[in-house]
Amino acid sequence: TERLLTARDLRVSFHTRDGDNQAVRGVSFHIDAGETVGIVGESGSGKSVTAKAIMSLIQPPGEVIGGEIEFRGENLTGLSERKWRKIRGNQIAMVFQDPMTSLNPVKKIGEQMTEVIRRHRGLSRDAATEEAIRLLREVGIPEPERRIRQYPHEFSGGMRQRVMIAMALSCQPELLIADEPTTALDVTIQAQILELFKRLKDNPDTAVILITHDLGVVAQVCTRVIVMYGGMIMEEAPVEDIFYRPQHPYTIGLLRSVPKRGGGTRERLVPIEGTPPDLLDPPPGCPFITRCPHAMDKCKELPPMFHIGPGHRSLCWLAEKDHPTVADVKAEGE
Ligand code: SF4
Ligand code: MG
Repeated sequence: TERLLTARDLRVSFHTRDGDNQAVRGVSFHIDAGETVGIVGESGSGKSVTAKAIMSLIQPPGEVIGGEIEFRGENLTGLSERKWRKIRGNQIAMVFQDPMTSLNPVKKIGEQMTEVIRRHRGLSRDAATEEAIRLLREVGIPEPERRIRQYPHEFSGGMRQRVMIAMALSCQPELLIADEPTTALDVTIQAQILELFKRLKDNPDTAVILITHDLGVVAQVCTRVIVMYGGMIMEEAPVEDIFYRPQHPYTIGLLRSVPKRGGGTRERLVPIEGTPPDLLDPPPGCPFITRCPHAMDKCKELPPMFHIGPGHRSLCWLAEKDHPTVADVKAEGE
């Protein structure tokens, strides 16, 4: 496998009147070419901010205050906005929760798509139109030949989201970042969009980061999962390990609160009690300490990342007894 993106000790703060809101506090992970990785967490966990930081889309009062992002071996930190504009949409594309904010309401869908396709791939007008039709068909839009002559408001929410995904794919990005792409949609449409992501999972040319609060979505679409809380990564593992061998108390809490799909009777969900940490003044130790059923004295100190198994790590003192730290495993490997 080929390393596509590496984030090292990423830190993002939002400067507010009351102090710095430390939205992302030292996040490190990687994405390999072609894989589909879920970033999961409640709102305020730092998952969207992490994605925006990867795209260099953090705006004041937000600021990337530390860390590095490497893409295909190139350090993207401190790149000029001009260079960024070439990468954004080209090699890395993003789909947001609300497609209406990113579509131009007064331009026909076909025009918007062919513009992007021509700019990124230098195709002729006719070839770009053909490509737009092909992409719309690929994302499951019926009668694309007719649809390209319509305006965004003539599309339903789910259709618009598909158009956005088609547009993102039209640049043939190596990495597609989708932030809660199904959250605003009703359940049937959600299922259709998820089908689309399942197909993308099998596409070796495009890696996907899927940001969601919904572990059910992750189970269907992702090969690897990163669980975030309080601006940090709590656990990371292949999708089977997250569901069958979760280690971190926060992951276990999240799993209990997932509604089971398909079963006739709705199971009673167990929400995690308490509220997320105040990131203006985060606790110095484990961010989950105020809500964790296993919290102990030691948790007032931030645990290191423990190595649970291949590709599986957990930021929790409970792992200390049976597992080495990630740092120790790395040192041994060298
Ligand atoms: Fe709970 Fe402590 Fe583990 Fe944090 S480090 S999740 S408080 S047991
Ligand atoms: Mg978000």
